[in-house]
Amino acid sequence: MTTKLYIDPGHGGSDPGAVDNGLLEKDIVLDIGLILRDILETEYEDAEVRMSRTGDTFPSLSDRTNDANDWGADYFVSIHINAGGGDGYEDYIYSGLSNSSSTANYQEVAHPHLVGANDMYDRGQKTANFHVLREAHASALLTENGFIDNADNAEKMELASWREDVAYGHAEAIADIFNLSKTGKEVSNDKPSGGATGETYTVKSGDTLWGIAQDYNLTVDKLKELNDLSSNIIQTGQELAVSESSGVTWVGTDLKGKRVESIYQGSDGLNFYDSARWTNPVDTFGYGMGWIVDNKYYVSDEGGEGYQFRVQNSNGDLYFITANDSFVKVI
Ligand SMILES: [Zn+2]
Repeated sequence: MTTKLYIDPGHGGSDPGAVDNGLLEKDIVLDIGLILRDILETEYEDAEVRMSRTGDTFPSLSDRTNDANDWGADYFVSIHINAGGGDGYEDYIYSGLSNSSSTANYQEVAHPHLVGANDMYDRGQKTANFHVLREAHASALLTENGFIDNADNAEKMELASWREDVAYGHAEAIADIFNLSKTGKEVSNDKPSGGATGETYTVKSGDTLWGIAQDYNLTVDKLKELNDLSSNIIQTGQELAVSESSGVTWVGTDLKGKRVESIYQGSDGLNFYDSARWTNPVDTFGYGMGWIVDNKYYVSDEGGEGYQFRVQNSNGDLYFITANDSFVKVI
């Protein structure tokens, strides 16, 4: 059975949320939320994720709860950063609920995962009459992941590794509550082999620096170094250098999940590769044989240049084939 998880990065757009130490709450919580989405979708079975926002936009509080309610969310998690002179992590459920409610029990389960991941002083489990907690039909939790105006807390927030840890803390809390089993895949292993070329990547809505780094087989620090970035905040439309040399550029595709079939009639069959390259194919496959599209790359090496699909076979193994539409057809 699918568990429907609604992730709500607080604030956004014209509403920056808490601001201090050169940081904006809206950016940090979006980064955490997008990483959390990637983890839940990749690493857990039957987790369906919907987000209140995937870019720098400001849906109203009613937009957020109406969207979650219409969708039929099983759990509503609102991610925030605190301000006002405190220190540490705390979380909230709706104050109108009893201590024996399932929402209170879920908070009890989630809290230790989140305190551990934040690696901050534990301010405890709290209740409040916040709109999103009151109006969400699903059980709802609001996390306040440190104080942006506390120098020690803010120092953590600047680290990509801390945001990743906090996203994992949320994922593990959710998995513990809903007994989600692992797929065995890891977000950090879901990357193409080979480096990228001195090409650039244009940031799309929903991207994180972390996610882009994974796709190009780079560390976040390396990606920041290549682009001379002082923070982890990226903007939609921003051009990023994604590597120094070699021949693979991630292009990305909205055909993910579609079937792609060989329409090549030659008796020698269509080559497939175990990494993004045009030399040394693993083997060939015949006319009409198909795969599921996973991603798309531009590959340039001594064997040729052009687009390749990364594709998945029925065992979940990933291979690379040409994306040229005189050889393959997406169905
Ligand atoms: Zn907030």
